[in-house]
Amino acid sequence: MLAALLYGQEDLRLEQVADPTPAVGEVVIQVGAATTCGTDLKVWRRGGHAKMLKPPTLFGHEAAGQIVAVGAGVTGWQVGDRVVANNSAPCMECFFCQRQEYSLCPNLTWNNGTFAEYLKIPAPIVQHNLLRIPDELPFELAAMTEPLACVLHGVARSHIKPQDKVVILGDGAIGLMFVAALADAAEVLLWGGNDQRLDIGEKLGAAKSFNYHQIADIPSVVKELTQGWGADVVIEATGVPSVWETAIACARPGATVNLFGGCPRDTTITVNTEQLHYSELTLKGVFHNTPEYVRSALALIASRKIPFELLISEQRPLKDLEQVFHDMKARKVIKVAMNCSKDFSL
Ligand SMILES: [Zn+2]
Ligand SMILES: [Zn+2]
Repeated sequence: MLAALLYGQEDLRLEQVADPTPAVGEVVIQVGAATTCGTDLKVWRRGGHAKMLKPPTLFGHEAAGQIVAVGAGVTGWQVGDRVVANNSAPCMECFFCQRQEYSLCPNLTWNNGTFAEYLKIPAPIVQHNLLRIPDELPFELAAMTEPLACVLHGVARSHIKPQDKVVILGDGAIGLMFVAALADAAEVLLWGGNDQRLDIGEKLGAAKSFNYHQIADIPSVVKELTQGWGADVVIEATGVPSVWETAIACARPGATVNLFGGCPRDTTITVNTEQLHYSELTLKGVFHNTPEYVRSALALIASRKIPFELLISEQRPLKDLEQVFHDMKARKVIKVAMNCSKDFSL
């Protein structure tokens, strides 16, 4: 099959590799659509990822498709089933899994390799994070289950109350998914650097959007809009340490600040102790997703209540993958749905 392999920094190659065959407990899917993700862009630019993968490796982690082979011992799944597979599954046995803190599981089974004609799904993921998708749901929408599951996990940890003013920093796919997930429950103020993305943010329900290229002092604008106090909840979705500090500066006394965007390794931020203490701030780190949020994410996508298709800028064949990464680096596209299999003419 044709598959993308990551060899190192900005070194992605399409190669012919052996078709995967399922071992005990595994299934193989033909990839209907694999969506690109900001994490992929980060990994491509850095040439690796501490937790998820080590090059040279198959690459990509968001996909939906159709089961083409079922390994021994697998029950409940058949060739032809349309499915989405999360890119990880917890072990269900460790200290953290016993406490239902699945995203902290140190033994997460990761799966990479969605930018390929076929994708093998490891047994733990088949058991805990493989979901059937409705017949009429396009693969490229179902493929966004994984990032949305991370976002719904982030929403659940943000202590949002009805009518809260929520500041979201970042107009990437994750920031925009936060807008979509919160627009009904709160008043969302979105900050980003790209007017087209900010327009999409407003279509997804942001009450107001702001381009930081035009307004540099974000905290003072937030204060003007909140009777001088700051936002009830701030969600950081850029993964830039200085923006983490901006996020904290936008918070009102008593606020929750969700530091959601993962920063480069070994970076630090400075927090004003007086603000943290006397303003009773809650600073939350939130990582990845859990089986519960994978299920609620697919249900939300399948409900078609939110036009998540707005996040897919283009559909492209697998052979264009390298160009797509350059387009992402230049911020020309939000997400791209890669059509990886010859048989699916989308
Ligand atoms: Zn992703
Ligand atoms: Zn575990």
